[in-house]
Amino acid sequence: MSEPRSQPLDWETLRRLDRQVFWHPFTQMAEYEPLIFTHAQGCWLFDHQGRRYLDGISSLWCNIHGHRHPKIDQAVREQLERAAHTTALGASHPVGIRLAARLVELAPSGLEHVFFSDNGATAVEVALKMAFQFWRQCSPPQPQRTLYLAFGQAYHGDTLGSVSVGGVELFHGMFEPLLFRVVRAPVPDGYRLPPGISPQHACQFYVEQFRRLLEKYHQQLVAVVMEPLVQAAAGMIMHPPGFLRQVAQLCRQYDVLLILDEVAVGMGRTGTLFACEQEGVCPDFLCLAKGLTGGYLPLAATLTTHRVWEAFLGSYAQRRQFFHGHTYCGNPLGAAAALATLEVFEEEKTLEHLPAKAQRLQAHLDRIAQLPWVGDVRRRGLIAAVELVRNRATKEPFPWEQQRGWAVCHQARRRGVFLRPLGNVIVLMPPLAISLDEIDLLGQVVYESIQACFAQENCPAH
Ligand SMILES: *Cc1c(COP(=O)(O)O)cnc(C)c1O
Repeated sequence: MSEPRSQPLDWETLRRLDRQVFWHPFTQMAEYEPLIFTHAQGCWLFDHQGRRYLDGISSLWCNIHGHRHPKIDQAVREQLERAAHTTALGASHPVGIRLAARLVELAPSGLEHVFFSDNGATAVEVALKMAFQFWRQCSPPQPQRTLYLAFGQAYHGDTLGSVSVGGVELFHGMFEPLLFRVVRAPVPDGYRLPPGISPQHACQFYVEQFRRLLEKYHQQLVAVVMEPLVQAAAGMIMHPPGFLRQVAQLCRQYDVLLILDEVAVGMGRTGTLFACEQEGVCPDFLCLAKGLTGGYLPLAATLTTHRVWEAFLGSYAQRRQFFHGHTYCGNPLGAAAALATLEVFEEEKTLEHLPAKAQRLQAHLDRIAQLPWVGDVRRRGLIAAVELVRNRATKEPFPWEQQRGWAVCHQARRRGVFLRPLGNVIVLMPPLAISLDEIDLLGQVVYESIQACFAQENCPAH
């Protein structure tokens, strides 16, 4: 595909401006080397020099059915011919109504109402505030509830409310004076177990730690917030099977609301449309974003129960409504992309094809696991991670300054696979639409890239 002739700026200028004026997220701009994608197709990204890369991280964990999917493109185009945006504040639009109804149909029964926003952080923020207000308006009110319980190394987005429940020291530590109080349960890490705890006993151990905190704080707790099954930004930390189910049971037992942040793990990534289905759990709040629009547009949803909804009803004079909203809440273009994304799941039987893909990915992981430096390989559905360690026996990590994860990802980029690590963890999270051949390429390139870095030992981080 050639650039339009009227291209106003040459590539050198664009690269210079990119470094000077475009401040990129989670990026050290002093060291940033411009990588400019001009277009994408299926599972492939194309840069300005015409090089192509397999999109190994779904354009940051959000693409589902591939780029430029004809059905989603068409849905957005059709909506564009009606209206790009009309407000959801006291007004509505057909595509938003249809999407809300469809989400309620598909979500675990019990989730009956949908509040739209526009990104993952706001989806969580909405749940945090709704839960808070719920306890002040339920009968009898319980205004003493001001605390949240969240997990070690949790990531729920970058606004201050989401950062408060987050627990990644590197991202969140500095902002501590600005944050509200949170009770922290240990991260239920299936790889780095506490001393003396065997894998068979890990689930029970973590559940017991959680139970004790709940017992102690439940009367003060607004809600428990968690990323079910996989804590993504933490480094794709995977919980022991059964943990989610028991957490949900305990929340019910102690009457604490459960917020499940499925921003990363929802929309089919773990093998079911929603991760909570895998352990038969229905939370009080389900937060969706990233893949909700197939990775097309910023749209998020916070689903909740009738119990919560009812506490907000009353006359205007009672002032019980949810005083929260964002200008682009439930944007119609995003809603059209989301509806089409859900339709494609059905038409292409996306979830039925996943087990074969997951199996193929697992075969590559098993091979990668044999390499030196590889301490752990783990996978849930089409979310996979390869953790590099200095010492496989002690699981001692490489010092973070060495940027080993980045070194491997740079090798992969040279070989035509676009990856972005989380510290020492290589993330493999391709679009669900990836083919078996593309999975082979992904697996092979990761294998070779680790080998190449190991061979060089001193291979540069950039
Ligand atoms: C990415 C992510 C978020 C934040 O979503 P944004 O759209 O980036 O605000 C929240 N929670 C989880 C689990 C995520 O992975």
